[in-house]
Amino acid sequence: MKILLLGSGGREHALAWKLSRSSTLESLFIAPGNAGTREYGENISLDPCDFEAVKATVLKNKINMVVVGPEAPLVAGISDFFKADKELAHVSVIGPNKEASQLEGSKDFAKDFMNRHNIPTAKHKTFTKATIKEGFAFLDSLKAPYVLKADGLAAGKGVLILQDIHEAKKEFSSMLLDNKFGGAGAKVVIEEFLKGTEMSSFVLTDGDGFKVFPEAKDYKRIGEGDTGLNTGGMGSVSPVPFAEGKFSDKVYNQIIVPTVKGLKADGIEYNGFIFIGIINVGGEPYVIEYNCRLGDPETEVILPRLKSDLVDLFEGVATKTLSERDVEFDPRSAVSVMMVSGGYPEAYKKGKTIYGLNAVSKSLVFHAGTASDGPAVLTAGGRVLAVTSYGNDIESAIETSYETIKNIEFEGAYYRKDIGQDLL
Ligand code: AMP
Repeated sequence: MKILLLGSGGREHALAWKLSRSSTLESLFIAPGNAGTREYGENISLDPCDFEAVKATVLKNKINMVVVGPEAPLVAGISDFFKADKELAHVSVIGPNKEASQLEGSKDFAKDFMNRHNIPTAKHKTFTKATIKEGFAFLDSLKAPYVLKADGLAAGKGVLILQDIHEAKKEFSSMLLDNKFGGAGAKVVIEEFLKGTEMSSFVLTDGDGFKVFPEAKDYKRIGEGDTGLNTGGMGSVSPVPFAEGKFSDKVYNQIIVPTVKGLKADGIEYNGFIFIGIINVGGEPYVIEYNCRLGDPETEVILPRLKSDLVDLFEGVATKTLSERDVEFDPRSAVSVMMVSGGYPEAYKKGKTIYGLNAVSKSLVFHAGTASDGPAVLTAGGRVLAVTSYGNDIESAIETSYETIKNIEFEGAYYRKDIGQDLL
């Protein structure tokens, strides 16, 4: 199997690491990749949304499988592009087509899907410029806090949670009338606020069969105690103790099975991972969102817990024989702590030399935002490194990650010191 992996973050480094452990992998190309992925294959500089460039790379390197890390190429239709091109007929794409990616690409589509299949989610209504007055009335009918969601992709910034009704109305108008989120905000979903604890479920499906991967919890805020600005994710933990047992059965029966069956019933072909953001409200699971790919930094704890061969599972997806494949997970806990550039998620500096990577022995270090300069590794993004460790319990995995971090240095490095503490 010759694989091209698209993306450049910690998720893609973890995917590259896992794919490289397969006995059937012949060669791996990562586009554009980072300083970490080059250890497992050849980095190729291209934009994953430039499908012609992806095609040229695939043909030149005789690639037969493309694994898509981020959502943008999926929502833009990379799977459809490959399917429509005769020269690419022999290439399988792991990742859903444009229609199926609407689960992430349109909040309105996802809400309709959930309602159609009785999947528990917050009550909602969707509004456009033409129905703005009805939107104000709907806001008046709700209690604070108010949840406003831009319908389309908004780089994780399209959800606003506001305490004050006047502010909620102002933001709602600005989304619809002033294009606050550009085209992504042409429709706005207003929904009921749910109070609870969040976790994420991951499912790999070929449209018929599916495999449930371990769940994870991520830490979105920059500051300890979940304070400060939202980030791409400051750490993650798997498994999630509160999600086990009865709760996990409810997630399976009320959410996972109806999601896979619902896609099939709607005639939507789905190929790849479904990431389900779930909130536990008094022991009952509700879907907050769907994503059409793996999460980052969740991947950095989930894939280390996968014992089975990922290429084999992807071949199962490509040939619709996933249910015939075995999947096994490591019972140990995994905890990942993200090291970020000082100042992130606001302005930060890049190009700082990272020291200490070669001496790491007890953890897996996945590069999120790095670049290479000869043998040196430099910071190249806000989120820089995800330091993942195993443990017989969450506490010992936490301990090992922080021990490793002590020996990794770059100017301005920052990390949260409380990842996983709430789960102990
Ligand atoms: P989303 O992009 O839909 O995942 O929303 C981003 C974040 O906003 C979620 O991870 C939640 O923390 C929060 N959120 C979204 N919808 C709701 C809701 N209905 N009730 C409470 N919090 C929400």
